[in-house]
Amino acid sequence: MYVLLLVLLALPSCQAASEGHGWAYIGTKGEKSWPKNYEFCGGVYQSPIDIHQDILQYDSSLQPVKLNGYNVSPAESFTLSNNGHTVQMSLVPTMQIKIAPFHYTASQLHLHWGQRGTQKGSEHCIEGKRFAGEVHLVNYNSDKYSDITTAMKESDGLAVLGILLEVGPFNPTFEKIISQLHSIGYKDQSVQIAGFNVQELLPKRLDEYYRYEGSLTTPPCYPSVLWTVFRNPVTISEEQLITLETALYSTDRNESVQMTNNYRQLQPHGDRLVSVSFREGVVLTIALACLLGVLVIIAVTCLLIRRKRRSKKSSDSRNVAYTAAAGVEENTSKV
Ligand SMILES: [Zn+2]
Repeated sequence: MYVLLLVLLALPSCQAASEGHGWAYIGTKGEKSWPKNYEFCGGVYQSPIDIHQDILQYDSSLQPVKLNGYNVSPAESFTLSNNGHTVQMSLVPTMQIKIAPFHYTASQLHLHWGQRGTQKGSEHCIEGKRFAGEVHLVNYNSDKYSDITTAMKESDGLAVLGILLEVGPFNPTFEKIISQLHSIGYKDQSVQIAGFNVQELLPKRLDEYYRYEGSLTTPPCYPSVLWTVFRNPVTISEEQLITLETALYSTDRNESVQMTNNYRQLQPHGDRLVSVSFREGVVLTIALACLLGVLVIIAVTCLLIRRKRRSKKSSDSRNVAYTAAAGVEENTSKV
């Protein structure tokens, strides 16, 4: 009887947990309210962050990101879906990355963007700059965990690759996704697209990136993500960006609320540092320090030379005065 009472008392909260709470980027379910239903969203090690000079540390052990199985045959297919928060593309488990000491298996990729006319929609910012959009390629630690649902709750469970988007030349690989957006305009719609080389969505240089420990940027905000944000953005055309910003709705056909600004605000970095795989910033700092040092040496040398000349001049003028006086004396003696 007592056990039954406990079960009955526990039932409503279990149901609530299994149904999940709605969340959004604006309005009453906007991100300020996330921590009420998802406690991790108000916790530590949250993402995204602004990546800036003061929190960077060069790490010579960071190796280029290794991709395996990214060239997916057109005989296979990806499911592209509108989940009411973003456009998501399911990936195939043969796609893997290695970030020592673990292998991670790809699960899905999705995008974040702003609204028409702003070109500001990335989640991570670099030195305060927000980019036009951002792709997240989500992978789980398949050496330790059997699936993403288990892995996402563990501190070493996920590795997400972040690719910043900026406006530039037309991107034919992104077009494979963008050209399909009109057919998944409303929430819960999906479409199959033929396999392609997913590596073409990434920047060419896989050796230049920022790495830090953070979280999912949407509820439940688990702090389980090893982030790799590539230094170099990838370009899409202005027309492609506009399609991304305008083609989707976060609702069904009856409500038609446009899916825009689906990025989370920057989170405090706290005591976290961001490891960086490349040295340019560090080299620049050293070069500036050297330049400053050289300028100081030149300034001090100039000052010393000037002082020396001045003291030489004054000793010369003393000699001249003495000679003149001697001359006068000589002349006087002659008189
Ligand atoms: Zn994301």
